[in-house]
Amino acid sequence: MVEHPLLAALLRGERRALARAITLVESTQPADLAQADQLLTQALPHSGGALRLGISGVPGVGKSTFIEAFGLVAIEHGRRVAVLAIDPSSGVSGGSILGDKTRMERLAVHEAAFIRPTPSSGVLGGVAGRTREAMLLCEAAGYDLLLVETVGVGQSETTVAAMTDLLLLLQLPNAGDDLQAIKRGVMEIADLVAVNKADLDPAAARRAAFQLGAGLGHRGPAHEVSALTGEGIAALWSAIEVRAQAQRDSGERERLRREQNVAWMGEAVREGLSIRFDGDTRVSARLPDILGRVESGQLPPPAAARLLLAAFFEDKS
Ligand code: GDP
Repeated sequence: MVEHPLLAALLRGERRALARAITLVESTQPADLAQADQLLTQALPHSGGALRLGISGVPGVGKSTFIEAFGLVAIEHGRRVAVLAIDPSSGVSGGSILGDKTRMERLAVHEAAFIRPTPSSGVLGGVAGRTREAMLLCEAAGYDLLLVETVGVGQSETTVAAMTDLLLLLQLPNAGDDLQAIKRGVMEIADLVAVNKADLDPAAARRAAFQLGAGLGHRGPAHEVSALTGEGIAALWSAIEVRAQAQRDSGERERLRREQNVAWMGEAVREGLSIRFDGDTRVSARLPDILGRVESGQLPPPAAARLLLAAFFEDKS
């Protein structure tokens, strides 16, 4: 296979090449798909080396502030940090997370950091967008800590958990939010929990951490941090490094990533089918009639779906 023109510069860690490579894999142009596959295939042997950390929490909990403080600590420990996001709201609100780079002022200008804002339009491939592709490219470019930010709404935590090694949940130091997280099942998929803004009310933060830690079992205790003052951030970084090391040593990380890749492939197949289906001329020819019958209550929706699928697969089998 011919070497992709971006590959060499990407592997040298050139920031512009990385940005262009990500733009390529995000492209929806049919002509770019083969190019994107080529580049990703060639980057793949150079990927996989990073610690992939998901960071979730409700808007306002301090994710951006945290990522800035945490990223700088990791850089002090010799890491190269890439910050990516999955954004369930993109296409609806224009996507807010990472949109405002000024929230990570120091990290954004650091030569050991790369921050990629989420694409602001369309949600290609569901909530995950092209974040997984971007992660591989960042790894090939030499970034060894990937921080994947998500707003804690809808399916986004599950999505980010499916593409990272560890998921860190940020919480506010008040019981109402803790209960909410527990109710929504987020606690079950979080590998680590940190109560942020501990500087505001240390006693409340301690109580919240204690309460949360009780529910975490072997994943605990919950950490107390302040993204603003930096307190607790270095200790959390150490705890995460220890956890990641154990995950690698036990073979757990390899198993997890294998499963994630298989699921990713399945998702890509379904996405491809869905795009083909939506653009199919036989389907669109029959759609108005079938849709009308569903809307007027003459045809049950599952029967309608089968008619459309039959139209789609005509001559294909
Ligand atoms: P995000 O929406 O989760 O990304 O939250 P931001 O990082 O934008 O933070 C929301 C607000 O909380 C901002 O005004 C921050 O300055 C503030 N904030 C974030 N972390 C802390 C913290 O540890 N202590 C205090 N006192 N304020 C914080």
